[in-house]
Amino acid sequence: MDLPTPHYLIDETALARNLALVDRLRAASGAKCLLALKCFATWSTFAQIAPHMDGTTSSSLNEVKLGREKFGGETHAYSVAWSDAEIDEAVAQADKMIFNSISQLERFGDKAAHLPIGLRVNPGVSHSHFDLADPARPFSRLGEGNVERIEAVMDRVSGFMLHCNCENDSLEAFSALLDQFEEKLGSHLARVDWVSLGGGIHFTKPGYPIEALAARLRAFSEKFGVQVYLEPGDTVVTETATLETTVLDVVDNGKAIAIVDSAVEAHMLDLLIYRQSAAVAPDSGPHRYVIAGKSCLAGDIFGEFDFPEPLRVGSRVSLLNAAGYTMVKKNWFNGVQMPAIAIRRLNGQVELIREFGYADYVSSLS
Ligand SMILES: *Cc1c(COP(=O)(O)O)cnc(C)c1O
Repeated sequence: MDLPTPHYLIDETALARNLALVDRLRAASGAKCLLALKCFATWSTFAQIAPHMDGTTSSSLNEVKLGREKFGGETHAYSVAWSDAEIDEAVAQADKMIFNSISQLERFGDKAAHLPIGLRVNPGVSHSHFDLADPARPFSRLGEGNVERIEAVMDRVSGFMLHCNCENDSLEAFSALLDQFEEKLGSHLARVDWVSLGGGIHFTKPGYPIEALAARLRAFSEKFGVQVYLEPGDTVVTETATLETTVLDVVDNGKAIAIVDSAVEAHMLDLLIYRQSAAVAPDSGPHRYVIAGKSCLAGDIFGEFDFPEPLRVGSRVSLLNAAGYTMVKKNWFNGVQMPAIAIRRLNGQVELIREFGYADYVSSLS
């Protein structure tokens, strides 16, 4: 079936491959895995994902509610800062409340006294390729780093959350970080019931030593007598979706440029934020084009790629890795047509799940 473009196309078979790895890690490590909704919240896939995970974690009240309503399992409620207007509803929907600071814990802890309460701890060490996404960057507001201040609230918390990794594909680097957590926080780790080690471990990457990661997590869990949680986002959905676009025009201004019916800022915003290029496959052949978007932004460029055939008006260009941190960030910049959402089922059939139109654009502002 030929769906109109642009659309995000999620592939159930690719998702199943990642989910099988999540299952392997859970079984071998004893760790519970919660989907980080800030990375991926396309809830029409949750029926497939939820049986392979233990629940969700969140960064806002809306994500807490979505996790509770559409995913099920355990709902961890975390936010960098809860407001007075949000806290009661968050507590009502949550299975655990995780506070980012001691001042938030002191302000709202009583409201969550019937739930397990966690504190985000910042050990001051991290693994991230980007300063923008580095929780241990100087003067970071993400979690409490002072061991004496943590000591003072130990009677109020049953767990810690430490999220210190971003796209970490090295078990050695992760294990070295755990060593540092143990060194800095060991006596406190032994006094809590659960520790969430956050997201950012790229364990579905081909060749990642999952069994060795599981053994390391199990050793950590046994050493301190804690239930370990992981909060994977990107690694669950990496390489499971494409952004399908159609060429609208081809111009040559020193380079051959194919303009597609999409826009980087609107539909793949992270590429701009992290100054990265999109990807196509196979990206080989004698015909080289800049693939550019149709917004008025001068730098609306997905990347420069090689194609086996010349591109013409009407050619399809499929941009890879469009699930994590992509669909959650789509926006109406330039009023560009919002990509529809389609799913390629396990049997190969493509189903259109959701289309967006002028009414959605109008209702997104007033
Ligand atoms: C972003 C985030 C995650 C998910 O990270 P991924 O890199 O997508 O795995 C998990 N937990 C917390 C607290 C986060 O901020």
